[in-house]
Amino acid sequence: MPAGKLQPFMLAHSAETKKGVALRGRLLSWYKASARDLPWRRTRDPYAVWLSETMLQQTRVETVVPYYEAFLREYPTLTALAEAPAERVLSLWSGLGYYRRARMLHAAVKRVAAEHGGHVPSDVAQLRTLEGVGAYTAGAIASIAFKRRAALVDGNVARVLARLFAVEDDVKSTAGAARIWALAESLLPDGDGDPGDWNQGLMELGATVCVPRTPKCELCPVRGQCAARARGIAASLPRTSPKRKPIEVKRTAIVLASDDSVLLARRRPEALFGGLWEPPTADGDGAALARRLGVDRASLAPAGKVVHVLSHRRLVIDVARGPLAGRKAGRNAEHMRRRWPIPGSEYDAVEVVAIADLPRRPHATLARKILAATARIGV
Ligand code: SF4
Repeated sequence: MPAGKLQPFMLAHSAETKKGVALRGRLLSWYKASARDLPWRRTRDPYAVWLSETMLQQTRVETVVPYYEAFLREYPTLTALAEAPAERVLSLWSGLGYYRRARMLHAAVKRVAAEHGGHVPSDVAQLRTLEGVGAYTAGAIASIAFKRRAALVDGNVARVLARLFAVEDDVKSTAGAARIWALAESLLPDGDGDPGDWNQGLMELGATVCVPRTPKCELCPVRGQCAARARGIAASLPRTSPKRKPIEVKRTAIVLASDDSVLLARRRPEALFGGLWEPPTADGDGAALARRLGVDRASLAPAGKVVHVLSHRRLVIDVARGPLAGRKAGRNAEHMRRRWPIPGSEYDAVEVVAIADLPRRPHATLARKILAATARIGV
């Protein structure tokens, strides 16, 4: 039977063979000698590990570093974050994307403060009861911060294990993911290494050596144990089904601005980009939105097109600009909501905001792009 067809019950056994032992030894030595010096690797503080692992989901290391450092400067402890205003937390996350992560982290941290005396649980099952903490994050916190024998699988780990064991199933399918998780669990060090270092070693190998498309096998510390390399199929693994093309959605953003102020709307908490501020935007040509804002759509000047690609949608946004007509910044949101009701479920508040205050408002990169399209406003 080829390695790619191993049955699940055989995986634990296979990983405990000499191959598993050799893998652990070589990878752990390589990790200790070659790991990149990243700020979250200088601590075992569970809160800092949790924060970094949350930020790193779907986001590149280079992007995360300044956000991680700024976040810890302002909220150095879990208790400090638990007491932080939600709007400030989102502000610090602005530009990092996947804002649900920030809202979930904040909710979970508050629960740890209230129910666990501010101490992050070390047990995977307990961790998984927290908002936004899935199997990966729970495994990362338990293994890295507490040195527990807890596995984790992210895209890098899935790729490395699929290649080392020549797993030819789609690693995102139920069966393929189960096989990768079974491998990750069976390979965990048991008295012969730190599970946190082992997990980080696998991720580091995937991020720097066993990279997608063209793995650098000649630099790999475990090339002698790699089944995919031996069979000459490394570059074709892991197998995944083709990604679905994002659906294109046409929208219109209306930027009502004066020299020093702009009208912004806050997205409903449950909506995409929930809690973030942006120029009011709606599907279609913007005629209905303009009516609700009390402006004539035909009087608005075109200010360019913004394209923003999300995981499943490609937003193509026509930006239209008009004058703010003397409305001043600093009026309360309730007053503005009465004056400019926003239809539908996307927004729960509108406000005229001083342009100088924009950086302090939580906003997505998309909002910056829309504002930049109007040329005079940059955040
Ligand atoms: Fe990846 Fe190549 Fe190392 Fe195998 S030998 S784990 S394919 S880098």
